[in-house]
Amino acid sequence: MDVRYLKGVGEKRAAQLARLGIRTVEELLGFYPRDYNDYSKPYAVAAAPFDVKCVVRAEVYEKGGMARLPGGRQMLRVAAGDDTASLTLTYFNNPYAPKKLEIGRTYLFFGKVGGVLAAREMVNPEMLTEAAAAATPLVPVYPLTEGVSSAYLAKCMRTALAAAPVIDEPLPEALLQKYRLCGKAEALQKIHFPQDAGDIHAARRRLIFEELLALQLGLLLLRGREAARTGAPMRPVSLEPFWAALPFAPTNAQRRAAGELLGDLTKKTPMNRLLQGDVGSGKTLVAAAGVYAAAQNGYQSVLMAPTEILAAQHAETLERLLAPLGVRTALLTGSVKGRAKKELLRAVESGEAQLVIGTHAVLGEGVRFARLGFAVTDEQHRFGVRQRGQLAAKADHPHLLVMSATPIPRTLGLLMFGDLDISVLDELPPGRTPVKTYAVTGKKRADLYGFLRRQIAAGRQAYLVCPVIDEGESDMLAVTTYYSDVAQPLLAGCRVGLMHGRLKAAEKAAVMDDFKAGRLDALVSTTVIEVGVDVPNASCIVIENAERYGLSALHQLRGRVGRGGGEAYCVLVSDHVTDAVKKRLSFLCHTNDGFAIAKFDLETRGPGDFFGSRQHGLPTLRIADLAADSRVLYAAQQEALALIRDDPALRAPEHAGLRELAEGLFDGETALN
Ligand code: ADP
Ligand code: MG
Repeated sequence: MDVRYLKGVGEKRAAQLARLGIRTVEELLGFYPRDYNDYSKPYAVAAAPFDVKCVVRAEVYEKGGMARLPGGRQMLRVAAGDDTASLTLTYFNNPYAPKKLEIGRTYLFFGKVGGVLAAREMVNPEMLTEAAAAATPLVPVYPLTEGVSSAYLAKCMRTALAAAPVIDEPLPEALLQKYRLCGKAEALQKIHFPQDAGDIHAARRRLIFEELLALQLGLLLLRGREAARTGAPMRPVSLEPFWAALPFAPTNAQRRAAGELLGDLTKKTPMNRLLQGDVGSGKTLVAAAGVYAAAQNGYQSVLMAPTEILAAQHAETLERLLAPLGVRTALLTGSVKGRAKKELLRAVESGEAQLVIGTHAVLGEGVRFARLGFAVTDEQHRFGVRQRGQLAAKADHPHLLVMSATPIPRTLGLLMFGDLDISVLDELPPGRTPVKTYAVTGKKRADLYGFLRRQIAAGRQAYLVCPVIDEGESDMLAVTTYYSDVAQPLLAGCRVGLMHGRLKAAEKAAVMDDFKAGRLDALVSTTVIEVGVDVPNASCIVIENAERYGLSALHQLRGRVGRGGGEAYCVLVSDHVTDAVKKRLSFLCHTNDGFAIAKFDLETRGPGDFFGSRQHGLPTLRIADLAADSRVLYAAQQEALALIRDDPALRAPEHAGLRELAEGLFDGETALN
């Protein structure tokens, strides 16, 4: 039912509520309080603490007249108190509140006591009668928008709870029993109007479970592949020819991970594996081993990367690795057009192209595989859940591998992939030296550039990273200005290139080629180079405004250097050195372990910030907290899997409520850039 038809809500109010995302009565009731004001233990006036919010019981003695203050403000004073002390209630611009007060009656006032011992005062207090406080001792406080007060929302909730004829129960009876959860109607009553802390706890427990179950079901429905048989069953393959063709020996970790991958490929159920390994640990090679095995079995593979630069680089590396073994590769990005594209799509459809590497262009409708068996996403946290689902939908339950250098906390991993297996590359290829990392302020920039010039003179190359393209945010160095005003003058006589996300794909590719081939000494860039770019001769990276980034992102950036042997350097430049920033940057200067860095990041910034808020494509949760409620999350996941096993699309009538909840959660999810 539209909230507009609720008693006390008209067109104007409905518009205000819409700004809170509330359009229907269900959405209204799903707008939970963020806190409660507790009227159950009021203070006597003299006992009330000063300057903290509290509830005081007092009798109204006398009401003063309205006074007009300079500037047009109105003020009205009310004398009140009890046996212990007196209390003045001062109302500014609020003639209605004091009007309701009756002289000689006792009320509960909520607010901060100010003034001095001899003259206590409360300004614009909230108020309940004793009878109202007895009925509703915990008054809900809602997250607000302009013009909508908590009191008004509470009134709407009351009307809605009374008017809603029946509140449907979305959870199956068996689950309510198993987890001893209260019913939906009861939970809504208790979350909005609890009698005591026990009510809040019971309501929260139930609503958190419901929300996380809906989330898990939504993810499973998007994925639609649980407990299925893969359409790409494979025979075991020897990887020896693959290893033998490499220009170097694989690390033990690479061999182990490739072995795990091969084990999955020969199972009846589709692979669902995360390959986690620090920057530079050689994940691409493991994926290539999978591609080789799939090709030997007559299946095609696809590898999706988040940027064109990275896709192009992968295409080059993989072509070099796989072409000698007879595997034909193709690169598909947004800039492949016209005849070339048509030809490429034909090769994919005929099965001639055995490995397609690309950006999200590979998700396009025109991309039809003859026999897709193995799908890989690189730097997976850059993709939304929906995009991974789209990739899987290109074939009949293909094997899925996701790769990431960012260690994903267990709870987020559970959410993003469901039950997935993990392979870890915990070993770097030999000959890597840790990148020497320093944090400096802008005052050191001249020295820093002197150092860069010496590196360049010695034949090495450098990255210079800035956060934004245009001079938008005031004190941040925009990459174009930095290029013309800082990098070029300070590196006079050197060849400096410029790279950012707004260049055309062909321009980007040309700049990258120049840098790779050594025709550029330094590259001024935004973070488009963050993920995966591999230029072994680069020995230095300077990151301006380093305070802007999460540590994991800085670690990724730093991983761009030190790939070709020899000393490598990372300089973090920041002029905003608060203690917190200092502590974070210093941690990075002393640690090269990506897992420790991610953990530190998570502890200091929290999970909400972990990937940047919109990167993982999960819906916003209204009541559950992924970090705090991980046990419920786990239980909800088990139940979601069981439900989907019995009723894969939730078509049974008793699951209609759950399906609606699950689908509703993902309505707002949008694909990423
Ligand atoms: P990441 O795990 O960060 O994606 P890459 O797959 O890009 O790492 O590999 C980083 C670099 O290490 C590449 O230049 C790659 O050729 C090289 N490499 C990978 N495995 C080995 C190995 N076993 N020995 C030597 N170099 C390797
Ligand atoms: Mg990589």
